[in-house]
Amino acid sequence: MKKLVSAGEILVEPGPLLGPYPSGAPAIFIGQAAALGQPAGLIGAVGDDDFGRLNIERLRTLGADVSAIAVHKGHATGTAFVTYRADASRHFVFNIRNSAAGLIETNAAATKLLAGADHVHVMGSSLFSDRAIAVALSAIETVKAKGGTVSFDPNIRREIMQASGMREALDQVLAQAEIFLPSGEELFLFSSARDEKGAVEELLARGLSCIVLKKGAAGAVYHDRHGAVASSGFAVDEVDPTGAGDCFGAAFVSFWLGGAAPAEALLIANACGALAVTRKGPMEGIFPLEAVEAFIATGKNTP
Ligand code: ADP
Repeated sequence: MKKLVSAGEILVEPGPLLGPYPSGAPAIFIGQAAALGQPAGLIGAVGDDDFGRLNIERLRTLGADVSAIAVHKGHATGTAFVTYRADASRHFVFNIRNSAAGLIETNAAATKLLAGADHVHVMGSSLFSDRAIAVALSAIETVKAKGGTVSFDPNIRREIMQASGMREALDQVLAQAEIFLPSGEELFLFSSARDEKGAVEELLARGLSCIVLKKGAAGAVYHDRHGAVASSGFAVDEVDPTGAGDCFGAAFVSFWLGGAAPAEALLIANACGALAVTRKGPMEGIFPLEAVEAFIATGKNTP
């Protein structure tokens, strides 16, 4: 089986009554991929503290390769706070750059993980500093040099994406990606077209293999040069939307790597995205493949 790697922030979020919750977009992504049986590992850094141990243990339990998560003494594990606004938008407060997460580097363990990797997934939010950008770009270079592939989720978090080279890095990652997974308005950050059809055409013409537009409760639409495949979402009670896009992306990329047809990859991805929103906490809605398949067998598709 192909091996999937991501690099970036590993964080904790506070919980309302219980918690803290393991978090960080690439950590959620790799956790969900591993839970589906996809060989997957993460390059990142945590502090030598209980928050860091919580993250590593959770990822290990989900089946992820945690060998390239560095543990730093003297630096705390990164943190994220999410505020849910009445208009359904979210505001994030992060402590990443000055936390252990900011010490991410392509060390010997990361180099070893990448040597066995076939695919790299990059989250835009993981390009939070010059140092983090260097790690992401070098991971892409390593994997591409041996014929591997790249997926990219812009996951725009303006609160942390302030590195001077960030915009250029986003464009560089997109230019090397096979799979592009934007949600909402993110599509238009990378295209001069102002309508969805025009933007998709422009981006496919630039060399992407496929674009998967995430559409919240409505599901997702896949585009490649042969046409489009739409897949409606599953009807669930949304408790917490954080992590849905990461779980969706992990499932889509894992099945794409396994050679699944777009409709099948979308079905599993929509199910993982829907399950993710049914639990408070970004990684609490990650389920193994058997549970996702059982959900699909009994779940109700939204009209
Ligand atoms: P992101 O989290 O990246 O902004 P979306 O909000 O579009 O992306 O969510 C990603 C995917 O998760 C959707 O394409 C869908 O499959 C699933 N999803 C998100 N919200 C819901 C919901 N309320 N009900 C069912 N599925 C959902």
